[in-house]
Amino acid sequence: MRALAVFPSSKDIRVVDHPEPRLERPSEVLARVLEVGICGTDREIARFEYGTPPPGQDYLVLGHESLVEVLEVGDDVTDLSKGDLAVPMVRRPCASKACIACRSNRADFCLTGEYEERGIVRRHGYMAERIVDDAQWFVRVPPELQEVGVLLEPMTVGAKAMIEAAGMMGSLPWLTDSASEHRAKAVIIGAGAVGLLAAMTLVSREFETWVWSREPEGSPQGRLIEAIGGRYRSNADRPLADLAAEVGNISFIFEATGVARLAAEAAPTLGPNGSFCLSGVFSHTGPVSIELGHFLRTLVLRNQRLFGTVNAGPDAFRAAVQVMGDCVRRWPRELASLISSRHPLEEAPDLLRGPPVGTKSVVRIAS
Ligand SMILES: [Zn+2]
Ligand SMILES: [Zn+2]
Repeated sequence: MRALAVFPSSKDIRVVDHPEPRLERPSEVLARVLEVGICGTDREIARFEYGTPPPGQDYLVLGHESLVEVLEVGDDVTDLSKGDLAVPMVRRPCASKACIACRSNRADFCLTGEYEERGIVRRHGYMAERIVDDAQWFVRVPPELQEVGVLLEPMTVGAKAMIEAAGMMGSLPWLTDSASEHRAKAVIIGAGAVGLLAAMTLVSREFETWVWSREPEGSPQGRLIEAIGGRYRSNADRPLADLAAEVGNISFIFEATGVARLAAEAAPTLGPNGSFCLSGVFSHTGPVSIELGHFLRTLVLRNQRLFGTVNAGPDAFRAAVQVMGDCVRRWPRELASLISSRHPLEEAPDLLRGPPVGTKSVVRIAS
């Protein structure tokens, strides 16, 4: 069968004839891949900066954001059947008996770092005609999500951040009561796919939601945010301190750019009892100036939390299915518009080597 392979040693990317996977255990599912989204991680792997083939193999099948259709299930599988749509999770647990996270089915909190990730680290990904995996790694999605289901994995980033932040916010009723005049206010930094999906998540959860990003205020991203009931401000026009004065108390900041300068600018704007979640993958950019003593003092005196998040667990995938169901009912056109283009598998190598175009490019493998 056809698959998109990255060869790190020869620095090659091409469509290959990859061995057809087959059901080998009664707990497994065979699925055909419908669509696979491309993100910054895929582009890093395609630039050979990242990504590891399975042991003993010279290539890695790329792709971790996917939508699949179940073709066949093993005898022990009861919660999926032929014809179901599903999204497979990405990370698989490490082998260490001492890793309490992986042994508790929470590989997203793996302690050893020896986990595997499909399409990223030591396991082939989803840019292939068919895949097999254990049923526990699939989340079923309803048929009404067929058009947008490939966006579920990037939506889990914001969903996991919300679950983590809710531990504190959920215990403060005035932050979660949507009828309250003190309705919680959230600022999202970055209007890429993860930021826009997080904005939809927050608006659907009744947060007063602001997005601050580099695109101009009349840009498609800005218009999309305003269309779903959020507010958009361009960081080209105003520093975040000005936006914070306009917003008032910011309960939640969700960072989705990986730009250290923007995170440093945002930190002092967080309100009392607020949570600041970092989800961008930062690179080494040299020193960034921040008045650290003032920031840490404020963190303490205002009961604030700063945390990072990576890779979603089963709870975030299930939460994202719920949120996406709400979003597709409320904003079907806006949600679908995040998929900026669809391409056949043969175009994937050029797509990966070129600059990103639009919010989300998707490779259509079967229809
Ligand atoms: Zn991704
Ligand atoms: Zn582990």
